[in-house]
Amino acid sequence: MDRSERLTGNADTSLETCRKCPSKLVQPVQWRRLGDDLWEIDLRCPDCGRASRECVPTEAVAKYDQVMRRARVSLERHLEAIERVDSADARTPYGEPAPDLRILPEDHGLPPAA
Ligand SMILES: [Zn+2]
Repeated sequence: MDRSERLTGNADTSLETCRKCPSKLVQPVQWRRLGDDLWEIDLRCPDCGRASRECVPTEAVAKYDQVMRRARVSLERHLEAIERVDSADARTPYGEPAPDLRILPEDHGLPPAA
């Protein structure tokens, strides 16, 4: 089977988007490089449980990697905010107001919700 027969997506494939439900939180389970510009990725949607396998070019994998990096930065920021709240609570029962801990679409590089 040659490369073009294996491909299930192209450079614009949004690997973080579930093909069954509206979730944009699809996670990689396993990555395998099959060739110079061909990757096979096992994916799982945390919202509906769908498991899938995609074969895509390196550009799609690079974009997915950037999406996950942005999500990790967002999570780290929220964890730091939680730690600040926890340490403030330890000092005084009437500390600063709690920071906004909501996780928003724009935290993941998506447009704000309407
Ligand atoms: Zn899903």
